[in-house]
Amino acid sequence: MAAVKDKCEEAIAGLEKLLSENKSLNAVAAAKIEQITAELLQLQTAKTTTDGEAENGFCPINRMKTGFTQFKKEKYEADTERYGELSRGQSPKFLVFACCDSRVCPSHILGFQPGEAFIVRNIANMVPPYCQNRHTEVGAAIEYAVLNLKVEHIVVIGHSLCGGIKGLMALPEDGSTSTDFIEEWVKIGLPAKSKVKAKAAGGDVSISDLHEECEKEAVNVSLGNLLTYPFVRNACIDKVLDLKGGHYDFVKGYFDVWDFESGVSTPTV
Ligand SMILES: [Zn+2]
Repeated sequence: MAAVKDKCEEAIAGLEKLLSENKSLNAVAAAKIEQITAELLQLQTAKTTTDGEAENGFCPINRMKTGFTQFKKEKYEADTERYGELSRGQSPKFLVFACCDSRVCPSHILGFQPGEAFIVRNIANMVPPYCQNRHTEVGAAIEYAVLNLKVEHIVVIGHSLCGGIKGLMALPEDGSTSTDFIEEWVKIGLPAKSKVKAKAAGGDVSISDLHEECEKEAVNVSLGNLLTYPFVRNACIDKVLDLKGGHYDFVKGYFDVWDFESGVSTPTV
């Protein structure tokens, strides 16, 4: 990206120099501005590759602008009633926990429309136990969803090939870590790892089956952790809130959903 930045700075410096040196050179200045504009436009349509160098073909800004234009035309302007209502407030029925993984957006796979689901996404879709000193962003989202928005369902959705769960399963037994945040975060799921490892002990279970089992058990750990939040527990006791687990398998094209109490279900779709 350094080359892109240098080129932008060079172009801007050239423009400033020209204008400061001779303000009467309007035609020259106009030509220079035209050239600089062309250069900047070229940079705007450049592709940023994994090694940071620019190539033609992809522009993140244009990608987002195009996406928004399409959304505005096909959804926003086509449903003025819905968006007018949303401008006056939100009343979602769901609080959803999902992984950050780019393949598992709940709005996309479950068709949640704007206003339907209050969504928290983090590595491996985990809910830490209640603690006022750690992971407070999660606590704040749950508190707001339950007490202010009065959501009726909390759904924790795991997924196939979850890198966070893979990391959890690979954690060294001695508790040591090699990342600044990731491993410490996924340790929330340690009870799930212990459970599936104990279940598989001595058996002939494949690594992929073990990971899938852990993806689902980690959801159950998070559902259990949700009950450590007093306002969640109270709402469940009052029967104004229920907890559900889910697992989206994007390899086989399945979505499982289960009530917290009854354990993992068979595929429903
Ligand atoms: Zn994941």
